[in-house]
Amino acid sequence: MFALDEQLVRWDAELPSLQGDVRLLRLAELAWQLRQRDVARARRLIAEAAPLLPLVDAQEASALAARFMLIEAEAQWLHGELDAGQAQAAQALHAFEQLGDMLGCADAHWLQAWIATDRGDSATSDAELAIASADARAGGDLSRADIIDAAAAIFSVFHSLQQANQRWGQRFAPDAALAPAIHPAVSGWISDYHGISAFQAADFGYAVGRLMVAFEAAMATGQVRRAIIIATNIGNGFTSLNAHDAALEWMQRGLALARPTGWPMSIGSCLMQTAETLRQLGQREAAQELLHEAVHLLSPLSGSRAYAVSLEYQGDLALDLGDAQGALRSFTMLEQRGDSLGQSDFKSGARRGQAHALSQLDRPQDALSVALSALSLASEHGDLYNQIAALRVLAQIHARHRLPQPIGMAAANAVLHYLQLAMTLASGIAGYAVPAALLDAAAREYAATGDYARAYEISVQASAARDKTHSQEATNRAIAMQVQHQTERAQTEGEHHRQLAQAEAQRAEVLQRTNAMLAHLSAIGQEITAHLDAAAVFRALDRHVHGLLDATHFSIFLLEPDGEYLRCAFGIEAGRELPPSRFALSDPNANSARCVRERREIVIELDESGSTPNLIPGTLPTLSLLFAPLTVGERVLGVMTVQSLLALAYGERERLIFRTLCAYGAIALDNASAYRQVAATQAQLLEKNVELERAYKALEEVSLTDQLTGLRNRRFFLQHVDADVAMALRQYDCPDPQGADQERMACMDKDLVFFMVDLDHFKEVNDRYGHAAGDAVLVQMQERLREVFRESDYLIRWGGEEFLVLARATDREEAKVVAERIRSAVALREFILPDGGTLRKTCSIGYACFPFLPSQPRLLSWSQVVELADMGLYIAKHSGRNAWAALYSTPATQPEGLFPRMMQQLEQTVASGEVKVVTNLVQPPKLSGERRRVGLSSDLA
Ligand code: GH3
Ligand code: MG
Ligand code: MG
Repeated sequence: MFALDEQLVRWDAELPSLQGDVRLLRLAELAWQLRQRDVARARRLIAEAAPLLPLVDAQEASALAARFMLIEAEAQWLHGELDAGQAQAAQALHAFEQLGDMLGCADAHWLQAWIATDRGDSATSDAELAIASADARAGGDLSRADIIDAAAAIFSVFHSLQQANQRWGQRFAPDAALAPAIHPAVSGWISDYHGISAFQAADFGYAVGRLMVAFEAAMATGQVRRAIIIATNIGNGFTSLNAHDAALEWMQRGLALARPTGWPMSIGSCLMQTAETLRQLGQREAAQELLHEAVHLLSPLSGSRAYAVSLEYQGDLALDLGDAQGALRSFTMLEQRGDSLGQSDFKSGARRGQAHALSQLDRPQDALSVALSALSLASEHGDLYNQIAALRVLAQIHARHRLPQPIGMAAANAVLHYLQLAMTLASGIAGYAVPAALLDAAAREYAATGDYARAYEISVQASAARDKTHSQEATNRAIAMQVQHQTERAQTEGEHHRQLAQAEAQRAEVLQRTNAMLAHLSAIGQEITAHLDAAAVFRALDRHVHGLLDATHFSIFLLEPDGEYLRCAFGIEAGRELPPSRFALSDPNANSARCVRERREIVIELDESGSTPNLIPGTLPTLSLLFAPLTVGERVLGVMTVQSLLALAYGERERLIFRTLCAYGAIALDNASAYRQVAATQAQLLEKNVELERAYKALEEVSLTDQLTGLRNRRFFLQHVDADVAMALRQYDCPDPQGADQERMACMDKDLVFFMVDLDHFKEVNDRYGHAAGDAVLVQMQERLREVFRESDYLIRWGGEEFLVLARATDREEAKVVAERIRSAVALREFILPDGGTLRKTCSIGYACFPFLPSQPRLLSWSQVVELADMGLYIAKHSGRNAWAALYSTPATQPEGLFPRMMQQLEQTVASGEVKVVTNLVQPPKLSGERRRVGLSSDLA
């Protein structure tokens, strides 16, 4: 709550090396602790800290922002702007409540209590302090709670000393403040409470001692306002002891602290107390001047206790000056103020003053009864000082008017009776110098009653008292202060400080506005730079330019790629789009060109009467023109301009805004252009990729296709066959949903059939009709194969006049039908030769099914099956051609070593019934003989 000076010195020393969030926290801590030490610097630190708030998380940022609000609220309170301070404090309190920041809440309530105090609203002040104390406790800060409670105890003393003692005497026992572990701020406040209590009990000597401790503590912990008040209270204590020299010293100390602050309450209190001391020293004119200034400063705070005190001093001064009416007015008002403050300690003094005035106004009965009530009020409160004052007034009333004697009077007359009572009480106050005036009055009375010895004795005492209280030193100091005051022209200075404070407040407001503006601009910046196309950037800029500045004309010129010309990329004037325009960068008359050439902001203010020299045809004669370059790093992209029909439209603030918009605009346009380039490059690449892809596809297609017939080639087959084989195997792997037996499964269309087709005696075609004829036959062979097979079957030119067909999802029992269809498709129709002639040709076919052995689908590989198809082809060739033959497994097929046995001893496997030859041949097929190799097992297996 109140850090020690030495702590601040350390924080300050570290500040220059801090950055980022650590710096933010330190700035906030320093601003808080400087809130009374140096209000202007606290505000500067806040202005620096505010933009750093995003560096911490939202919760912490809100707490810091609330703290800044509270600092500002305190500054307003100190400057006497109670309404504004109250509003700010309430706002801060609300934020702290939202955040559950109990210490923040405690501090806000603490400030609200002081604001209420300055308004004279004791009830609110007491209530606020009670909440503040509870919040401090809830926040776990018992020292804070002690400080708050000590302040509550002080206020309680003003209500009633007895009640205050009952309530707080135990808690803040005098030795409690001496415990070494207690923070100086806490012990200071407790000492303050002890001082004020003693003051009210007229124990001025003790009071002054405690208040001096409190003063040192307040000074060491940055509580400047409290320190000033304590200084004046100490001065007041010395005045009450009639120790005017010491009183003035403290008044001076208080004033020295108060004057630079410009705080009305502090300066007003000091001046008022000084005035009272000067009055008591007989310096009535000086007192009047000071008091007048004090009342002027305090009048906006007329609800405060300080203002009430000034009424008492005004009343006493009026009595001294013989203005009984004025005095009566002041003391009557004082009584009312005391009542509404709920502070009973004013009442006795107010009655005493009224009685004195009434006596001067020759209303003895009224004077007497009011004076007696003043006496009884003061006795009730154990207030010795006011009892003495009341007794003296009673003596004066009796001296002036003929009145009945007081009851139980032992003295020679009523005047002496009261004077003796006063002197007796006075001797009971430690350190109290009985006023010379009181002794003079007593001496006079004794003389009047003929008791000359006594009269002499007392007049000697009076003279000694006068020497003591009105020492030359005190009088000199009083005169010096008066002179000082006159030469300083305190009033002017006060005015000066008020102006300073006002200027400071304005500066703070400007800073605050600037901060808000920067936050706004940064949001705009985010929006502008989010766009990736130039047109959207232009539109965003246009919208914000018009939102922030007076701009009849707004245009953007961009440098053309050659860097020689500026082209208007966007231009709006009075809501209308400007016609396209273009300038050479070297154009000496174009402001925009000059702005780009010189790379600097240009402001042009035209005379309303004069002509516009460089007016672009078709544009309005604007009076204020602002040009700023659009730069990104070292590069200039172009220039942006706003123009207004108003004179002097673009001040520092407007230029700052425009500069910022230009910076954002340049970044956004640069982004947009970079994006455009990247997008164009990407599009080109994409196009190239598509072309490449197409070329690659075409190439791939070529590499997979036979150029003569357009059929697929061996490469294609090798790329695809594995997938088809895998699919066929999967069909065999999946158990049939209906639980069908193997026989039934064998009938389903899940086999692959490899057909090997070879034209018979094809060599003869070439030999007899030429190669072109051979080619023509091959091409027509392709057509016939297509007729026989499905679109989904693979037709492969295997090599020369030899074709491989893979028929997919075929029933193995249907394969012979297909084979016969191939045979007849070739044999039954003539081939047409290039010369128009025709030719009959036949072909031979061999085929085999995959899996070869359905019960063991993986027994033979597809390439082995292709070899079996090849084997079938050559059985057909050797058996006379124009035929087909196939090898099938049987229920007797033995899996062990099946393939090698078939390759080497086909006849045995057929004879044993392991392998069945299926063919269209009428005669028995020839199984032996030279067999051609397909080359598959060696190439691929
Ligand atoms: P077989 O009945 O035993 O198959 O006798 P064949 O003459 O058809 O067999 P062989 O393998 O001895 O001859 C094949 C001939 O096919 C050899 C070659 O001249 C011819 N040939 C291979 N490719 C082409 C081609 O692309 N165009 C032409 N015109 N002839 C080709
Ligand atoms: Mg052939
Ligand atoms: Mg051949």
